[in-house]
Amino acid sequence: MCGIIGTILSTRNAAEKIMLGLFAEQHRGQESCGMAVSDGKSLQLRKEMGLVKEVFPQAILDTLPGFAGVGHVRYPTRGKNCESNSQPHLIKLLSGPSFAVASNGDIVNYKSRRKLLEDDNVFFESDNDGELLAKFIAYYIVRRNNSPEIAIAELIRNVRGAFSTVFLTRDQLYAFRDPWGIRPVSFGRINGKGWVVASESCSLDILGAKSQREIEPGEIVIFESYNKCKTIRYTDFGEAVEPQSRRHCIFELIYFARPDSYEFGEYVWNVQKQIGSSLAKDDKEINPDLVISIPDSSNFMALGYADFKKIGFDIGLLRNHYVGRTFLKPEQRIRDEAVRQKFNPLKGYFKGKKIVVVDDSIVRGTTVRKIVRAIKKTGAKEIHLRIGSPPVKFPCYYGIDTPTREELVANQKNLEELREFIGANSLKYLSMENLKSCVKHPENFCQACFNGDYILEPEAGFSKCNK
Ligand code: SF4
Repeated sequence: MCGIIGTILSTRNAAEKIMLGLFAEQHRGQESCGMAVSDGKSLQLRKEMGLVKEVFPQAILDTLPGFAGVGHVRYPTRGKNCESNSQPHLIKLLSGPSFAVASNGDIVNYKSRRKLLEDDNVFFESDNDGELLAKFIAYYIVRRNNSPEIAIAELIRNVRGAFSTVFLTRDQLYAFRDPWGIRPVSFGRINGKGWVVASESCSLDILGAKSQREIEPGEIVIFESYNKCKTIRYTDFGEAVEPQSRRHCIFELIYFARPDSYEFGEYVWNVQKQIGSSLAKDDKEINPDLVISIPDSSNFMALGYADFKKIGFDIGLLRNHYVGRTFLKPEQRIRDEAVRQKFNPLKGYFKGKKIVVVDDSIVRGTTVRKIVRAIKKTGAKEIHLRIGSPPVKFPCYYGIDTPTREELVANQKNLEELREFIGANSLKYLSMENLKSCVKHPENFCQACFNGDYILEPEAGFSKCNK
C-alpha cells in the first residue's frame, strides 16, 4: 500500500500542495517519499527515505518551483526498501519528452511484462512496479510513436493487477486506474485554481479541494490545464481486457484508509462503526464493564460496539503518536519493538473489570498478544477480544504486504488455539456475512484475503516484498 498525489495549478506552488497532500497520506507509507514537479520546461525530481516532513522542509520546497507535480509515499510490497525503489520514477528521454509516474498497487504479471520490455533493450534501475508502468508508457510513446493517451490505454490492456496512477508530462497531468478499481483514487477541484488527484479524500480536504468523484476503473482522466480536464476510457482504443467487474479492496475500509476519508462510495468511519455494532449484535452472552479499542485503527469499531451495547467507550490504551503504524514496519523485530513503544495500558484502570478489546484484524497475532498480556498485568478480570474482520487466511497480491499463507496465524491455529496463544478469555471474529452487510455493494469488493477468491491470479514467479 502506498499513497499518491497529483496536482496542476494556476500558481507555481505545486510542491507545497504535494507535500501537504502527502503528509495527509503518511499513514499509507512511511518508508520513503518523493515528488516530481514541472515548471513547464522541465521536470525536477526529489525522493528520499524518510517521512514527508523530514524529506520536504520549506527550504527544499523552495528549490522545486512548478505549477504541476506528482508525489508518492511508499510502503514496500515489492522490491527492497531502498531509495531506488521509491517513487515517483522520472523518465528522461534523450530526445523527446520527460515524464514522471507515481502509482499505488502491485502488478501480478510484473515479471513477464518486464521481460517483454527488457527483450527490446529497455533497461530497469529498480524492482518497483511504478518503474514498470513508467517504462511501459515510455516504450509505447517512443518506440511505437503513440500519444500518451494511447500508451496508457495499452498499459491498462497489458498490465494486470492494482494500479491507481498519476502521470506527469511537462504540461499535463494524467490519472488512471486498473479496470478492477482495486486501490482508491479520487480527484477534486480547488475553486478556480486547479485540480488535485489523491489516493484518499482526506488529502483533498486538507488542500481545500472540493471532491468531484473517484476515478472510475479503467478510466483515464487528462488534466490539460488548471481549469480544463477531459476523460476517456482505455476501451476507447480497443477491446476490454476482462468483464468489468469492480474489486475494491475491502481491507482499505477495515484498516488502511483514514476514517475521515470517503472511499468506494462509503464513509470509512461509518463502515467501521457498523462493523462494531455487528460484532456487538452477535455477542449477547457478554456484558462487559467497558469497551476499548486498540488505537487508532479500531476506534470507530469500538465506538460502534459500545453504542450498540449502550455502555461507555473508554480509552484504556495510550498510544505514542510518534511511533508509526506497526503493520507498515518492514521487519518482525522492528514491529515488536514498535508495539512496545507504541501502546501503554492505563495502570489502575482495568482492575477487576470485564473488558471487551476491539481490534480490526489479526495477521500474525503477535501485536494483539502483547497488548492483551500488558492489559492483563494491570489486573483486568476478563479480556474478551473481538475482531472487526474475518480471519485473514490468504496473502494479498494487490498491494498489501501480508505474509505467506503459512505465516498467517489463522492458518496455523484454530480459534481455541489462537485464543490461548493470545491469552484472552474469549475470541470472536466478524463473520463474512456480517462484513458484507456493512457495505452498500459487497459484490464490488475484493475479499480474497479472507476467502481466497482472487480476481487475478499472480503469474508464476510472482514475488512479494524482498526486504
Ligand atoms: S486480497 Fe485483501 S488486502 Fe488484498 S486487495 Fe483483496 S481485500 Fe484487499
